[in-house]
Amino acid sequence: MTELKGFLTEIEKCGIEIKYDQALSQFSTWKIGGKAKALLVPESAEQVAEIVRIAKQREQRLEILAFGSNVLFSDDGIEAGLLMRKLKNVQLNGTTVHAQAGVALGHLALLLAQKGWGDLAFASGIPGSLGGAVVMNAGCYGKEIGQYINKVLVADEQGRVLSLEKDECEFSYRLSRFAKEKLIVLEAELEVSEQEDAEKIAQTIDAYRQKRLSSQPYEWPNAGSVFKNPPNDSAGRLIEGAGLKGLRIGDAQVSDKHANFIVNLSQAKAVDVIALMKYIRQCVGEKYGVLLQPEVKFCGFKANPLL
Ligand SMILES: Cc1cc2nc3c(=O)[nH]c(=O)nc-3n(C[C@H](O)[C@H](O)[C@H](O)COP(=O)(O)OP(=O)(O)OC[C@H]3O[C@@H](n4cnc5c(N)ncnc54)[C@H](O)[C@@H]3O)c2cc1C
Repeated sequence: MTELKGFLTEIEKCGIEIKYDQALSQFSTWKIGGKAKALLVPESAEQVAEIVRIAKQREQRLEILAFGSNVLFSDDGIEAGLLMRKLKNVQLNGTTVHAQAGVALGHLALLLAQKGWGDLAFASGIPGSLGGAVVMNAGCYGKEIGQYINKVLVADEQGRVLSLEKDECEFSYRLSRFAKEKLIVLEAELEVSEQEDAEKIAQTIDAYRQKRLSSQPYEWPNAGSVFKNPPNDSAGRLIEGAGLKGLRIGDAQVSDKHANFIVNLSQAKAVDVIALMKYIRQCVGEKYGVLLQPEVKFCGFKANPLL
């Protein structure tokens, strides 16, 4: 705690906003999680780099928080987090887009649509930030964000700002280099090419929205797909096939609408979600011989909570 205090004093001296004693549930679409003792809220890439440098010197662990639409925060909470939501500049020059990590993916898709670019229409309903989407290589309907990336600007563990070319980002199914290494995504450069009538793109976005509304449990807090799809199969099909739709532990429930979603019926705890995830893995493993891998990220746990 004394170490944290010293770290925060130094951060304060740099004029960086700190929010104390924050409920993590308000930063998670699942509405689950204990408290963060401190959340640092940088307003620029330079401030992020400064925070990382100070954290490195003081050996302070920092969790990276964005829109929390793919993360399960532990009930025990965390010490310190870096909240990326204030970095949200966007610039469009011809077919090149520069956007900061904290821009909402849906907002970026709409901005581009208004300019007659339909490239990100597929991602308009993904409720994450651009940074979170780059880390996760978020995708749907056969497309992924990585396809549109030219370069990614990151801060490394030393607080150095580096520019990585697309082929250095190691994008694959719901995975990237940023999910494996301690790199903070600051900004991405995207290239657009799908020019269309703005009205037509708006219709496509609406059609995607309707599709999501009819197939996903929007009425309850959730974090999207909990498990990755195994090769040539769907996690939802396996979970449903194992008879687990509607199964409930505490206030966490396997959705009736989409078996790969776990919904929070009211006061679900992270331990409830973990217990459900373990049980699902066990049942699907026994019935189909497939060990489902989590798509959601765990934050604030001492070890992998599924083991
Ligand atoms: C209703 C619903 C529908 C969804 N549909 C889809 C879908 O169709 N396709 C899909 O791929 N996903 C989907 N998701 C999951 C989620 O929206 C995506 O994974 C999204 O890209 C996560 O972005 P985020 O900003 O919320 O990241 P978070 O959940 O906040 O973070 C995810 C991980 O990335 C790290 N991280 C975040 N930002 C940065 C950064 N700037 N630098 C370094 N690390 C960072 C975090 O530490 C964490 O480990 C859905 C979720 C919901 C709730």
